[in-house]
Amino acid sequence: MINIFLIYGIFFISFYSLLFFETIFGESNTAEYQFLTKFGGKESNDGELSTPHSIDIDKKGNVYVTDTGNDRIQKYDLDGKFILQWGEEGSEDGQFDKLHDVYVDPSGQFIYTLELANHRVQKFTYDGKFILKWGFEDTGGRGVERTPHQLSIDSNGYVYLTDKNAHQILKFDENGKFIESYGSKGSAAGEFLEPHGIVFDSNNTIYVTDMKNSRVQVFDKNFNFIRQWGSFGNGSGQFSGTSPGIDYYEKQDIVFVVDKTSTNVQVFDKDGKFISKFGSKGKQDGQFNRPEDLAIDPEGKVFVADTGNSRIQVFEK
Ligand SMILES: [Zn+2]
Repeated sequence: MINIFLIYGIFFISFYSLLFFETIFGESNTAEYQFLTKFGGKESNDGELSTPHSIDIDKKGNVYVTDTGNDRIQKYDLDGKFILQWGEEGSEDGQFDKLHDVYVDPSGQFIYTLELANHRVQKFTYDGKFILKWGFEDTGGRGVERTPHQLSIDSNGYVYLTDKNAHQILKFDENGKFIESYGSKGSAAGEFLEPHGIVFDSNNTIYVTDMKNSRVQVFDKNFNFIRQWGSFGNGSGQFSGTSPGIDYYEKQDIVFVVDKTSTNVQVFDKDGKFISKFGSKGKQDGQFNRPEDLAIDPEGKVFVADTGNSRIQVFEK
């Protein structure tokens, strides 16, 4: 009898110690990233931002932001110091209408932009000189208007666009020649409901935020389905059906997803295991209003496009 009580005693002490340590670890994990600084503001002067939808950072530490409300791209250094800008409202070469995404190719030489209103990709030099553009007329329209929302580039220079309303991924070469489309509408593996964010890791593995399915889907470089994670909700590892932005940080092999309605950023390992999260709804430092995108700088700092607050916020560990 005594032995049995002893065993139960040890069991319960171990059990509750474990719970205790898990609570401590859980709390330190959710506060893993802290607010560092912010830049932008609601006017249209140099460096100020109006509803920025997208952000990207090249390997040298140049930060590019779609200043959507002002129809221009702005370029900053990692401290948020304004470097240059280009663009104005319109549909001519180098002009913008409803800018939605910006992406720097891995070499840092070329900047790609995506506009919802002009239905096109434009390609620029790193200092904003127009190179070329393409539309989506020759992509097998499927009876649905093409509505690309984000783009990403693999290490071979191919450009991939998420087509939100046609529930597909489109692949082009670096000069805009259409190559292939992937996926169809649905919730099975490899199907999409409003795909939005897209990013590649260092092995050209593809990660897509499949928004209305509240999940991230992962594909190999030939677009074979590998795995998925996430479910509907606002808990850890869940998505609210509005997760527009995703990025990958090579040095730590981790994936970041921003959620517009849950107003947070979640951090996962490459297999989709939840690591931590930060952010809540509001205007204070560290809070968000309808955040649409994020980018990771070479040292692992997280830059969030806090779209509704017309600013970029920077977080560090
Ligand atoms: Zn969008």
